[in-house]
Amino acid sequence: MNKRLFLSPPHMSGREQHYIAQAFESNYIAPLGPFVDRFEAAIRDYTDTPSALATVNATAALHLALRVLGIGAGDVVLASSFTFIGSVAAILYQNAVPFFIDSDHQSWNLDPTLLEEAIAKAPKKPKALILTHLYGQCADLEPIMATCKHHGIVLIEDAAESLGATYKGAHSGTFGDLGVYSFNGNKILSTSGGGMLVGHDKALIDKARFYATQAKEATPHYEHIEYGYNYRLSNILAAIGVAQMEVIEERVAQCRQIFAWYQEELGGTEEITFMPELPQTQGNRWLTTLTFERTDPLHVMHHLESHNIESRPLWKPMHAQPLFKDALHVSRGVSDDLFARGLCLPSGTQMQRDDVSRVCTHLKEALS
Ligand SMILES: *Cc1c(COP(=O)(O)O)cnc(C)c1O
Repeated sequence: MNKRLFLSPPHMSGREQHYIAQAFESNYIAPLGPFVDRFEAAIRDYTDTPSALATVNATAALHLALRVLGIGAGDVVLASSFTFIGSVAAILYQNAVPFFIDSDHQSWNLDPTLLEEAIAKAPKKPKALILTHLYGQCADLEPIMATCKHHGIVLIEDAAESLGATYKGAHSGTFGDLGVYSFNGNKILSTSGGGMLVGHDKALIDKARFYATQAKEATPHYEHIEYGYNYRLSNILAAIGVAQMEVIEERVAQCRQIFAWYQEELGGTEEITFMPELPQTQGNRWLTTLTFERTDPLHVMHHLESHNIESRPLWKPMHAQPLFKDALHVSRGVSDDLFARGLCLPSGTQMQRDDVSRVCTHLKEALS
């Protein structure tokens, strides 16, 4: 049997264990320490943002974002519908009301015209928008930002999948009031689990750091006026993060190369359309994703699986989830259609040209 090809396995640089050993020597086996500081600095430098807070994961970072932006019970929070649950779960943690917005075909991301429609239809003025950059491709930020600004809606970018993606030269995650990255095991960089909250307003990030550290007041004893969370990243995992950040540009180039190979081998097939990339943006191509004209993606998935190749349907839109069956949403059926026809292909950055060819050979066998 050929070796298994996973969707997006972790890819260590080789420096991780060296840094972990240093963390052990310093005995900072704690959710703070020099590697946490270095990891945050590496993200600030790379994304060109003044403030960053390392967290246990991106879901927690999004929770902190809503909390520090003052989103609470009954507040309406707009969100991309075509995304992963971790993007929007924190809306429920805050007892706020999610309002899901469908994608457009040009970007597979939030449709800016539907954003206007959602604001007009909302039962009350929405306070925030959580905007996902899906599969590492940028949403159309400019019109979305203009609409948010016009209506006084704060923007939180869910850049969990899009570290390294740029929109007009600037990093995804740095346009909004706050932005979030993930270092889960399946993302372009992995610390096994981890997240980062970034922003231009240092006071907001400081407040998030306070909530992420159990909201301890600055007294010698433990004094609490507010409640917080235990959301800070371990120094050991941050050591992995520091080593991973040393290869971020390489990883983005590798993901884009894998996408280019797939495109070369499958681009001529009428049956297949790849996820687009908006002009003046460069995605990180975290996962190579495509849709089929007629073939059932589950049929392709099962066929690939029989050859020890992992693939997966696209995200099921939030407005179509049983959890959100009664939730507010605006849709033109785009993400439902993409979900019905789409597939994610193995895109791990260790993949060689031969591996991509192997996937393509079996994928072609499965086409109707
Ligand atoms: C992975 C992911 C998250 C959650 O990230 P964690 O670090 O696993 O909590 C949130 N949003 C999107 C779009 C994701 O892909």
